[in-house]
Amino acid sequence: MPEKILVVEDEPSLQETLVYNLEKQGYQVESTGDGLAALSLARHLKPDLILLDIMLPGMDGFEICKILRHEMNVAIVMLTARVDEADRIVGLEVGADDYLTKPFSMRELMARTKAQLRRSEVIREEFEKIKTSEPAPNDVLTFGNLSINQVQREVFLDDQPLALKPKEYELLLCFAQHHGKMLSREFVLECVWGLDYVGDSRTVDVHISWLRQKIGDAAASPVRIVTVRGGGYRFEG
Ligand code: CA
Repeated sequence: MPEKILVVEDEPSLQETLVYNLEKQGYQVESTGDGLAALSLARHLKPDLILLDIMLPGMDGFEICKILRHEMNVAIVMLTARVDEADRIVGLEVGADDYLTKPFSMRELMARTKAQLRRSEVIREEFEKIKTSEPAPNDVLTFGNLSINQVQREVFLDDQPLALKPKEYELLLCFAQHHGKMLSREFVLECVWGLDYVGDSRTVDVHISWLRQKIGDAAASPVRIVTVRGGGYRFEG
């Protein structure tokens, strides 16, 4: 099944060029130049990716992006004519996955499109693989002197309760549930922060360093949450 892309651009010649080039690459493409039509088309088509212009009749791209983010899991690449819009686009306010500043080359567009689609696919596959191989979780997970009570959401180290922040707890739980498996930063980001989170993998690195400190894992030579070169992290227990 070809991946579905929705092109939302009100400038006819650019819309045409985008559709032509994307179809040439084998994607299934639908397009519109109207903001409101874009919203209903997106709901109907459930595309894998949306190329979304900002200044549109009907409803602007920022608004569309915010609404769709709450409704579906779709990669959104914004098309902007203004460099100063970039901060809003990548910030939490809008929550797009990426953006392109006009004018951009078709080559650049294709590269970004492929990267976004590939990213969604990798995450989906990873989730599927892990989900199908995982037994039902126990209420209490124990790893040596570390135990995690999933019902009370409490963590104990040497029988002493640890004061973990909610995200640190989620992070530890994500690792514990996938004990012994290499987890990519992207997977961890999705697992703990969710699909709608726009941030980069440094968020994961920072939280891991805080978590390591709390569970007594030396930063210089961690033995519980180990860094896998070029890959991500693995929880050894
Ligand atoms: Ca426009």
